[in-house]
Amino acid sequence: MGEEGRQTDTGIKVPKWRFMDYILGKLDFCFWLQTAFRILRSYSSLAGVPSFPILVCSPMIAMLAPDDFSGEAGMFDLELGGRVAIVTGGSDGLGRATARRLAAEGCKVVICARRQDYLQAAAAALAEETGGTVVAQAADVTRPADIEALVAATLERFGGIDILVNNAGLAVQKLAKDCTDDDYDLIMDTNQKGAWIMAQAVGRHMIEHGRGGKIINMSSLLALKPLSQLSLYAMSKAAVAQMTRALALEWVRHDIQVNAICPGYIVTEMNAKHWESEGGRALIQRMPARRIMQPEVLDGIVLLLASGASDHITGAVIPIDDAQSLM
Ligand code: NAD
Repeated sequence: MGEEGRQTDTGIKVPKWRFMDYILGKLDFCFWLQTAFRILRSYSSLAGVPSFPILVCSPMIAMLAPDDFSGEAGMFDLELGGRVAIVTGGSDGLGRATARRLAAEGCKVVICARRQDYLQAAAAALAEETGGTVVAQAADVTRPADIEALVAATLERFGGIDILVNNAGLAVQKLAKDCTDDDYDLIMDTNQKGAWIMAQAVGRHMIEHGRGGKIINMSSLLALKPLSQLSLYAMSKAAVAQMTRALALEWVRHDIQVNAICPGYIVTEMNAKHWESEGGRALIQRMPARRIMQPEVLDGIVLLLASGASDHITGAVIPIDDAQSLM
């Protein structure tokens, strides 16, 4: 989708890639208007009326017509300009790709991760790539005080929070019998408790503010289908999926939509080497689509779940996985 939208003359902000749809819709309307007039003229007392005035007037009538009659534009709202978004784990991988998309759509984006210098560089790069506003605020999601400070800093800087992408996460790859208590705490504290405390902190603000909001939780394919050596990770992501449904139910009356994405295997800095290895290439050949996904495959679902287009979608746990969960 294009970086900027265009203001149409009926006052509707139409994102760039939908602009042509909008115009084609209006042209369609003109065409049908003129055809209807010609048919009427052939079979009625309008026979003597010249078609020229209708030819001239139909574009004006089309512009005034409701957009539902003139193509898809205006039927749903994908506009994100000016919204404030927090993306946890925004320095790398899927979080970085999500922050890039939101910034390109005109959101003011705050990214968090643990290392301030690295995060700062990521925010600067994202701002340059998108021409948007991307701010770095170091926070460890396992530390409630950091989350509090992240939310407070975002509110102080931008005056509100419209979107939270609960993305920070990590995995420990071990057989269940070898996992330690420390492994358990690390995975649960980061993936599950971190996402919970983040959602609580942002949800409280959204409820207080009374303007609703969007929470997008990054769950995983493994929430739907466990994999050997990733039991802790799978458990934590299943908890994120159920947290999504529980919060969606409680907060729907506050117009807060809470949804989860369950990505399948996606190439990120963390796993790129694996996909180049023999084992990685063999795994790709066993996947239903015989291909590995890139982080940008999440652009569409993020845009949907962050925008007004999903105002009535909540509690959804959505696989983006090239059918990997169906294997
Ligand atoms: P990544 O390692 O590239 O990025 C993870 C991000 O989270 C980094 O920015 C890291 O700094 C941050 N992070 C980790 N622990 C943190 C903490 N305690 N506090 C703050 N930030 C922290 O990983 P990724 O592949 O981009 O994964 C992002 C999310 O998507 C994770 O939740 C992961 O479980 C999920 N996911 C990834 C895949 C995939 O194939 N890449 C598939 C399904 C789900």
